[in-house]
Amino acid sequence: GFRCGIVGLPNVGKSTLFNALTETAAAQAANYPFCTIEPNVGNVGVPDPRLNKLADIAKSAKIIETQLGFVDIAGLVRGASKGEGLGNQFLGNIREVDAIVHVLRCFENDDIQHVDNRVDPIADAETVETELMLSDLDSLEKRVPNLAKKGQQGDKDAKLAAVVLGRALDHLRDGQPARLTQVADAEEARVLEQAQLLTAKPVLYVCNVNEEDAANGNEYSQRVFDKAAAEGAQAVVVSAAIEAEIATMPSEDRAEFLSELGLEESGLARVIRAGYKLLNLLTFFTVGPKEARAWTVEAGAKAPQAAGAIHSDFERGFIRAETTAFDDYVALGGEAGAREAGKLRQEGKEYVVHDGDVVLFRFNV
Ligand code: GDP
Repeated sequence: GFRCGIVGLPNVGKSTLFNALTETAAAQAANYPFCTIEPNVGNVGVPDPRLNKLADIAKSAKIIETQLGFVDIAGLVRGASKGEGLGNQFLGNIREVDAIVHVLRCFENDDIQHVDNRVDPIADAETVETELMLSDLDSLEKRVPNLAKKGQQGDKDAKLAAVVLGRALDHLRDGQPARLTQVADAEEARVLEQAQLLTAKPVLYVCNVNEEDAANGNEYSQRVFDKAAAEGAQAVVVSAAIEAEIATMPSEDRAEFLSELGLEESGLARVIRAGYKLLNLLTFFTVGPKEARAWTVEAGAKAPQAAGAIHSDFERGFIRAETTAFDDYVALGGEAGAREAGKLRQEGKEYVVHDGDVVLFRFNV
């Protein structure tokens, strides 16, 4: 599955957020740096109102959301790229995730120690990003010359990698993240992706604010939004403390609690959806009386690959995908209506799946 790694300095609210995300108290939040040592992985459902609509129409007995993985990554300190604190473990765990959810402390509270004794989310973001850049710089300073040497000896893949990663190295030497590296085509993009550079991964900033700022943010979160806009990154405002409270609440009480705080939906729903968007994923649905279910594929996936997200047998024996767009399915009152109106399409193995497609796969066993 696809995974977002939750990172940030100690005591910014990562564990609180993660616990709320997984609705478990497994990783206990504590007012103590380094309290989260082992990375914890939680798979959370991606909220999607379309799924409820489909289930209503098809009278599905069950709703199953698609899942996104979140990894709570141990606290980082200045010097991590040189092995300080839990540095090496931290960086290794980040290497394995597809995107980064960077939690920034945007709340004041004298009882909760800040590692640098001040609230400054921009400086915090830079501390973390600097460690990631130093780690990438270190690894590329070694890899690029090796690749160039192999390239000179006739290894074409190494030659291309030396060029693309050489560009990334230039950015890092200028103190810029590798995500700014220009790629000319899909092959170069793949080379960059396979290099697993920490600063090439997409980033979502989560501004953790106090309860009273949850609806409108504050001065700190505004600075983070300005930074995100300048970088082409995403940002959301969340109060981890509120999310922790909501997570333990019976679901029928949540809507009222949220509206009292001036919120339309939980911050977590926004984090999950933003994380999903960050990964360039799309959702398709399978709908029947037993269940209405959402599935995830990468944007650009073709029908057999989507079938494979459900079961490898579906991909191997793929014949066709009976496909209806979500809007048509809803407007025509379901599968029978869509079929009658000619809106249920027979799609073959070259079909590129669209977000919201309702699909029935036909396959040989
Ligand atoms: P981590 O080290 O980043 O995982 O941080 P934790 O999630 O353990 O949080 C550190 C401390 O800050 C805990 O005592 C939390 O209860 C507290 N905390 C987290 N989020 C908020 C918030 O939005 N407001 C306030 N006032 N405290 C928070």
